[in-house]
Amino acid sequence: MSFKKIRTVLLLPLLSINSLIAQDLSVKYAETITQDDLKMHLSYIASDELEGRETGKRGQYLAALYLADQFEKLGLTKIVPLGKYHSYFQWFNVAAKGKRQTLLAKDQTLPDGFEELASMNVLGFLEGTTKKEEVIVITAHYDHLGIGSKGEIHNGADDDGSGTSAVLEIAEAFSKAKQDGHGPERSILFMLVAGEEKGLLGSKYFADHDPVIPLHKIVCNLNIDMIGRKDEHHESDEYIYIIGSDKISSELHRINEAENIKHTDFLLDYTYNDEKDPNRFYYRSDHYNFAKNGIPVIFYFSGVHEDYHKPGDDIDKILFSKYSKITKHIFYTAWTIVNKTDRLIID
Ligand SMILES: [Zn+2]
Repeated sequence: MSFKKIRTVLLLPLLSINSLIAQDLSVKYAETITQDDLKMHLSYIASDELEGRETGKRGQYLAALYLADQFEKLGLTKIVPLGKYHSYFQWFNVAAKGKRQTLLAKDQTLPDGFEELASMNVLGFLEGTTKKEEVIVITAHYDHLGIGSKGEIHNGADDDGSGTSAVLEIAEAFSKAKQDGHGPERSILFMLVAGEEKGLLGSKYFADHDPVIPLHKIVCNLNIDMIGRKDEHHESDEYIYIIGSDKISSELHRINEAENIKHTDFLLDYTYNDEKDPNRFYYRSDHYNFAKNGIPVIFYFSGVHEDYHKPGDDIDKILFSKYSKITKHIFYTAWTIVNKTDRLIID
């Protein structure tokens, strides 16, 4: 055995002890993501009181206030400039006509027959330690369809109350880690966007009009939209559709797969990742406004079901066991990306 080999053998136990410690820490904080906590957030977000959270309407504002309140409790930083201060809210205007809405840029005049409504994204920032200039962005949309023509409330428990509550839980896990002195090396922006259902308006506003974090600093975007139900294509509920992971960074794709093998062992379904798939989901949720700028993304999705965009998308149909496991998986993937030595490679 050469000296080099002996040295390698001697070093191995040390390395694995280090990685075990790091892994144990991630497990410790993943355990703070619980079914009960997800249920607590979702019970409010998907309640009738929020009137279906339609962009520019009262229910959306109530949801935004709740989210900001949660960010405040977690000690997340306000980063949207507001006069001399900073805010959790990134305001933007939309032109609305009935259920139709489009972004209204600052210099744009309101088209005839439209009314102007105000909407906002909710941003909470957790500053990193050694690589704080590099930021990973975790998103979900908190708006939904509002109230239908017959007065029926679309609570959108799965779409996307599930993603919204998951972001709150992931934020809590990282905040607790930071309080204990194990804060992420890179920074994390938790962003709950509005206007997704009207055409990805909130994420488009962030990316095209007012990126509060310059886009070149953004390492990747993990976007969560509908992870609480099961579709008809699967027998077991232990699966998740992964969309976009290999399109910009094959390293991101590998990390996501490795974390799943280590902790969750779900079936990762790439059906909708196929460019030829007619659903074109890659272009249909908020991650796309990052991906179109060359930022690596993963879109986590558990598929459509009979209540998709119907008033029956309620909390009593959420599969909390599956839902909490997916949330933990996203946390583990994020943990690895924020703490790894080098920034994700784009290839
Ligand atoms: Zn959605």
